[in-house]
Amino acid sequence: RAPLLDVTDLHVEFRTQYGVAKAVNGANFRLSPGESLAILGESGCGKSVTAQAIMGILDTPPGYITQGEIRYRGVDLLKLKEDDRRKVRANKIAMIFQDALSALNPVYTVGFQLSELFRKHRGMSRADAKKRSIDLLEQVKIPAARTRVDDYPHQFSGGMRQRVMIAMALALDPEVLIADEPTTALDVTVQAQIMGLLADLQRQRNMGLILITHDMGVVADVADRISVMYAGKVVEEAGVYDIYSRPAHPYTRALLESIPRLDMKGQQLSVIRGLPPALTDIPRGCAFNPRCAYARDACRQDPPPPAYAVAPQRTARCHFFREVIGE
Ligand code: SF4
Ligand code: MG
Repeated sequence: RAPLLDVTDLHVEFRTQYGVAKAVNGANFRLSPGESLAILGESGCGKSVTAQAIMGILDTPPGYITQGEIRYRGVDLLKLKEDDRRKVRANKIAMIFQDALSALNPVYTVGFQLSELFRKHRGMSRADAKKRSIDLLEQVKIPAARTRVDDYPHQFSGGMRQRVMIAMALALDPEVLIADEPTTALDVTVQAQIMGLLADLQRQRNMGLILITHDMGVVADVADRISVMYAGKVVEEAGVYDIYSRPAHPYTRALLESIPRLDMKGQQLSVIRGLPPALTDIPRGCAFNPRCAYARDACRQDPPPPAYAVAPQRTARCHFFREVIGE
């Protein structure tokens, strides 16, 4: 399958008062049609900035793509004329955020906001646009969509509001949906419902889905593949089963060990010691070395190459991945 989205050697920098922050530092990944990819890592590892670079919304605070390619169906978005680039992003790639309330306009009903999309981009009549809006609210499983279409964002619960956001994102039938921590602000039961909904919609519509999260516990049922990011780089990429059963990177392993498990109730959870590095001051050698249980001298001197081939379709950025995986 030809990739839908192919991100190559992406670098994004921010100018800060402490110097240049290298938020994304040579990230690579690809997404095939109908595939679901999770990008996983602690906050400050470059996941959201990567998504913002794809969407072209790096402007606040000022971030710059300094290197790399973002190919959509083979065409580098960064080389397109501004108009064409905007067209691809508006019609083919949609994004949902953690905070649905701030993404929706409080002064208009959700039906009005959805209808505007159909009227503006599809030239629909008011009546048709409203009908389509109700359809969409039904697709995202909002009960009594016919009456709720006339409600304002604040009249919805957090979970229902996130469903409205998903409906807005799906309105123009995107081929790629990027979801940045879509359930972080919700309680656990609602989280699972929203993740289930995203997984269903992704399959029904055969969309490419990029799910950005810090929570390894929520991705297992949704993602086909996982890219783990650390300090602005992808450090491991593999199918979801391989990641959970035999992680090849110490960081992935540490993330896994920090998931609360039902069968381990009451036991001490291991949390990863230390914090991700300041992006203005990334450690020499392997960026993970100050926190890594496997680190040795080589790790402090030589950065591991971008992608050791662990197996077909499987890479890790660690000198000692064989030891980590237990070979
Ligand atoms: Fe740890 Fe060294 Fe592998 Fe980096 S290269 S993850 S420091 S073992
Ligand atoms: Mg984020």
